[in-house]
Amino acid sequence: MIRGFPAGSAPRQIPRREAVRRLGIVAAGGVFGGCAGASVASDPLAAPAVRPWTRDWAAVHVAPELVTRTIVGLRPYRSSGFVLRTEMHDDKPVVHNYGHGGGGITMSWGTAHLAMEEALSTEHREAAVIGCGAVGLATARLFQRHGFKVRMYARDLPPETTSNIAAGQWSPFSVFSAGSVTDAFMSQFRRAARLAYRHYQDLVGPDYGVSWIDNFSLSSSPIGAGALEREIPDVFPGIRDLAPDEHPFPAPYVRRVVTMIVETSTYLRAMERDVRLAGADIVVREFVDVAELVALPEPIVINCTGLGARQLFGDEDLVPVRGQLEVVRPQTEIDYILLPGNGLYMMPRRDGIVLGGSFENGNWSLEPDPATSRRIVSGHVELFGQIAENIAAHQAAIGADATW
Ligand SMILES: Cc1cc2nc3c(=O)[nH]c(=O)nc-3n(C[C@H](O)[C@H](O)[C@H](O)COP(=O)(O)OP(=O)(O)OC[C@H]3O[C@@H](n4cnc5c(N)ncnc54)[C@H](O)[C@@H]3O)c2cc1C
Repeated sequence: MIRGFPAGSAPRQIPRREAVRRLGIVAAGGVFGGCAGASVASDPLAAPAVRPWTRDWAAVHVAPELVTRTIVGLRPYRSSGFVLRTEMHDDKPVVHNYGHGGGGITMSWGTAHLAMEEALSTEHREAAVIGCGAVGLATARLFQRHGFKVRMYARDLPPETTSNIAAGQWSPFSVFSAGSVTDAFMSQFRRAARLAYRHYQDLVGPDYGVSWIDNFSLSSSPIGAGALEREIPDVFPGIRDLAPDEHPFPAPYVRRVVTMIVETSTYLRAMERDVRLAGADIVVREFVDVAELVALPEPIVINCTGLGARQLFGDEDLVPVRGQLEVVRPQTEIDYILLPGNGLYMMPRRDGIVLGGSFENGNWSLEPDPATSRRIVSGHVELFGQIAENIAAHQAAIGADATW
């Protein structure tokens, strides 16, 4: 039985000769799974010996009936990047910390650190943190750890925040648009990414739902170093290009990077617990304008309202980028993230396998869209069907090798 496929639904068994022939394609053409133009070895038995893989591979079992939930969230995106600065409103300093786009889980501890530095430069040591998503919670914790008395205020608490929807990969991408940022922002960004990367490493373990994980990106052409990998290489460790005979993926170019995954339901619950245990009240309250923030008893306000900052502070550069996820039942043997290169992605978590692939700029709808569900599910059915066949072919070929 192929790992990840229940009895009765696995791809067909592949005869050994067929398996060796397929793996001959790998050796000759460098591509698994029927790449047009790949040459086929004329004598299957002349194909090079098949090496065992150095790691276990399993395919995700995806089918419409295995979807346990469909969820939608709005990424708080600014093409010029997040806002991290202090503004005076009447006599009250407001430190902005919002607009993290598709990377707010990732960046949260880093921008929290920068917000704390802003606050430490004032004489105040009592703060109101507005917003109880990933950004507000990391901010509140860091302020507490540095001696601030904190009270949190938020319209929504976990599990009803955008942060709970996030797939949860530690990945500082989709945070800004390269052509729209200033040098000053980029220097904040680089610093925040490095700080966040360091902070998260202290949270690895089941209590916070943070773990190290391999991420594999597939491509039909050679994968170069992207701008961010060149600028902050220290947060992209373990980059390695895999040889075609090292993996079951249907693509000629495969790159691994080692990263972390943050299981948002576990993580946000643990963070909320920590904030409360360290003495903060969390007040459920919606603010309709800045005057209400100015009227708060705390002498300094930290604005971590995500997309809410658009209305509260009139920031029209802040727009929603809608994302829809399909979650299928968990499979503990899936121990890698997969980005197949066509906009889809798969991230395994204990509360389910997250399948994504939607980025809709300016769309405010929180209603699941059936056409998007079908596209995400069918794209992954096809992808993991090919991967399962390639795993089966490899297993059969290894068996063939063993009997020669
Ligand atoms: C489908 C999807 C996948 C994603 N995947 C990833 C990923 O893999 N990795 C990653 O790093 N990021 C990912 N993201 C992005 C991430 O979810 C966001 O960047 C992040 O959640 C933003 O956090 P936040 O705390 O700023 O906002 P939120 O989580 O939205 O929290 C905002 C808080 O402010 C409160 N608030 C807002 N307005 C007001 C108001 N007027 N009065 C009082 N309270 C208010 C809200 O109630 C809430 O408590 C993903 C997002 C989506 C939608």
